Amino acid sequence: MRHVSGPQGSRVVLDGRPVLLLCSNNYLGLADHPRVREAAADAAMRWGAGAGASRLVSGTMTIHRRLEEALATFKGTESSVLFGSGYLANLGVVGALARLGGAGGPSGSVVFSDELNHASIIDGCRLARAETFVYDHCDVEHLAWGLRHKLGPPNHRAGVIVTDSVFSMDGDVAPLEEIVELAHRHGVRTVVDEAHGTGCLGPGGRGAVADAGLEGHVDVVVGTLGKALGAYGAFAACSAEMRDYLTNSARSLIFSTALPPPAVAAALAALEVLQEHPEMVDRLQANADAIRDELAREGFEVAGSSTQIVPLVVGDADLAMRVCETAIEGGVFAQAIRPPTVPDGTSRLRLALMATHTREELRAAARTLGRAALQAGFRPGAGVPVAAAQPAGHPEERVVAPLAGEDTAAAAA
Ligand code: PMP
Repeated sequence: MRHVSGPQGSRVVLDGRPVLLLCSNNYLGLADHPRVREAAADAAMRWGAGAGASRLVSGTMTIHRRLEEALATFKGTESSVLFGSGYLANLGVVGALARLGGAGGPSGSVVFSDELNHASIIDGCRLARAETFVYDHCDVEHLAWGLRHKLGPPNHRAGVIVTDSVFSMDGDVAPLEEIVELAHRHGVRTVVDEAHGTGCLGPGGRGAVADAGLEGHVDVVVGTLGKALGAYGAFAACSAEMRDYLTNSARSLIFSTALPPPAVAAALAALEVLQEHPEMVDRLQANADAIRDELAREGFEVAGSSTQIVPLVVGDADLAMRVCETAIEGGVFAQAIRPPTVPDGTSRLRLALMATHTREELRAAARTLGRAALQAGFRPGAGVPVAAAQPAGHPEERVVAPLAGEDTAAAAA
């Protein structure tokens, strides 16, 4: 791990060298916003540093309730419930919904999961031990095929479709309208992970679900507090009935200590700042557009991204590392991401924009990245297109891979 001195601002000192930070999920710069810091400090004085136990054991605290209400209002849902992290939220929500059987009973549920979903969703599927149908990335026809073939006659088996909204390594957005439409048609539930949509997309940063006009049409929207909201933790936004079910069924919530009050208060303050300054979201997206233009001018293929996450696909893992190291020497830090976090042959530099980057910084960064690529032996634009590196779209079940120690080397984001 590299060493960063100071907070996760747009410029940091990395292993003693000043660099532009282009790979932090602190998208809105709220992690070190003065109001957010103060809220965390005040909460520590008022409620203490830790929550003491699971909320089901030692009781819920005022500040947790307050944040849950604010998040439900923000997401346009009846209710919400906090989790210790996005990883824990997906683990708990996928498991709980897979057990929420229909006529087929608990063991009869099928989970339908996009092949590029985040590792926490994949692990949620594994832990649920439910049958999992992995559909080709964003391929609604493959998903529809799976729904037709796996569910059987109407009301026979329960199912749940799970997808990231913004894919964390590619910066593309799931076809949410079609997914929700398919879910309604087949009578299955939906879970959308808005880890990278919350605070970044949609009206006022309410996410991709809101952007698609689907508020109230998704059973569970998972969001994280550690990315655009600058703190730590996560939530599931849903109906009150679903909240009660999750509270009593999601094992990662039941058997884990509640979020520390300073993290909860920080997220609450961040949400207030975001609601007072929705222009931050516009600035973030404008920065993403700007760097895509600059990178395209350098020859990089960036058309696959439409959000604040912009991958520069290099292909070979060692080559991606060399480009990353050379860019750091030039003053730009964009971490190389390798398998198993991304499919074999698609190693990349994953750029994450911040609303606080300036246009000049981004212009200079694109030039540095272009030069670094050439110096490292990679011609921009020569990377394997992401879609081409993925398995062919056969309409057949792909089993979620066994654990087999594969997760150890992940440079997760
Ligand atoms: N979902 C997605 C899509 C993510 O990218 C991440 C983290 N990178 C998570 C969930 C996990 O969130 P957390 O870091 O809060 O555990």
